[in-house]
Amino acid sequence: MRKIDLIVIHCSATRCNRDFPVTALIRCHADRFGFTGYHYYITRDGTVYQTRHEQLVGAHAKGYNSRSLGVCYEGGLNAQGKPEDTRTKAQKWAMTNLLKYLIKKHPDAQILGHRDLPNVHKDCPCFDVKAEYAGITI
Ligand SMILES: [Zn+2]
Repeated sequence: MRKIDLIVIHCSATRCNRDFPVTALIRCHADRFGFTGYHYYITRDGTVYQTRHEQLVGAHAKGYNSRSLGVCYEGGLNAQGKPEDTRTKAQKWAMTNLLKYLIKKHPDAQILGHRDLPNVHKDCPCFDVKAEYAGITI
């Protein structure tokens, strides 16, 4: 069993008014990595897809993949293509529930946004993860 002590939140960096379904994510990552880099994907309707087995190392946070899980939500760019927290109510609800489930499974894990990791120069996931989820309990 690999030890998971980080849960890293991402956005798909796609526009909030364009669909980026799980099938598109899988295809895109298949081309880039040969597999899906995130473990979970939350579409705008609040559906949670498991896109990679938790025991398999993902490809989402350079230098931290071996010890982390990647959770991505569909969106992160507004209609003009600017970084923005575009999560729908359904996505927020789904994300909270998913994180509660993951924290129960991995009680020592810390929840962070991609941009909170050192040397990450992106806005991903376009909201303050620590402020919103650091205190999450089961
Ligand atoms: Zn990211």
